[in-house]
Amino acid sequence: MFKEAHCFDDVLLVPQKSTINSRTQIDLSTTMGGLSFGIPIVSSPMDTVTEAAMALSMLSMNGLGIIHRYNTTHEQCEIVYSVREALEEQSSEKVNSIAAAVGVNDGFLGRVDALYDAGTRIFCLDVAHGHHSMTEAALKKSKDKYGSTITVIAGNVATTDGYVDLSNWGADAVRIGIGGGSICSTRMQTGHGVPTFQSVFDCRDADGASIIADGGIRTSGDIVKALAAGADMVMLGSMLAGTRETPGETFKPKGGKHYKVYRGMASPEAQVAWRGSARSLEGISTTIPYKGPNDKVLKDIIQKVKSGLSYTGAHNISELQAKARFIRQTSSGMNESKTHILSL
Ligand code: IMP
Repeated sequence: MFKEAHCFDDVLLVPQKSTINSRTQIDLSTTMGGLSFGIPIVSSPMDTVTEAAMALSMLSMNGLGIIHRYNTTHEQCEIVYSVREALEEQSSEKVNSIAAAVGVNDGFLGRVDALYDAGTRIFCLDVAHGHHSMTEAALKKSKDKYGSTITVIAGNVATTDGYVDLSNWGADAVRIGIGGGSICSTRMQTGHGVPTFQSVFDCRDADGASIIADGGIRTSGDIVKALAAGADMVMLGSMLAGTRETPGETFKPKGGKHYKVYRGMASPEAQVAWRGSARSLEGISTTIPYKGPNDKVLKDIIQKVKSGLSYTGAHNISELQAKARFIRQTSSGMNESKTHILSL
């Protein structure tokens, strides 16, 4: 028999007795790799999501932004450096939370060295199929060299085995989720993947690093489900794409609204931009309506996530994880769960 795997839409959280009178009583703080954050949200290391402005915006909201790696080492260091200067001018202790992504191919350690010198202290080993001997070697090399002066996030993986291996190889946090991203075509191209909700749920009881749920999180409701399933943080691409702080210009088709580009890092457009040619296509590029300032979007998400915790009667994320009761819904339940008057 095949194992059944559930995605966000397949499940609902059962409302429970609450003693919470106001969302101000709800604390969304979390830890990831021993570091503390006020909100459990990380912006994805994609070239249409996180460069300097987004990294600064996420840090100012007490979350985290990971600067993408799809540029030269010099360009990425310049971005890190501009974040560091800005933070030093504010005398912000967040200067120790500058995060940047790197690959694991030959020469990755040179990029780590340069980024470390520029001020990066959180590294994200950013690999499509992270359960790999190259990730093992890269984790060991970076940890051997920089030890506890750095925090390392590694991934992506979809299974408990992958999660436990990456944890044992030295990862402080693991990105969980393969094939679920809104711009991802991995499952269509390769037939591989596991619904992100299921992967997180599978890993929750294993002994290992912090869990970052990544890919396919479309709503505040999905964030609540991911946290309740066991994630310490969630990584967002599409939910933050299109905000003012994302890289890229807004554009306005004649007579229309403002838009920004959001694209998978394995889309033809992104690959041509960063390596000059496209191969192994596992993503698409699209345009999404401009959303305005990132902090406004985040504040709205945070309020809704807090409401989510109050429905379970949970004051914080650990209480949510301890109390959460999931049920599986049918496809008619799924239809009822979405606003549906327009389809009548
Ligand atoms: P979203 O939040 O559903 O938009 O998913 C964002 C996540 O998709 C990222 O954090 C990556 O893990 C993943 N991702 C980014 N680019 C690609 C791609 O081109 N193909 C497959 N997955 C991708």
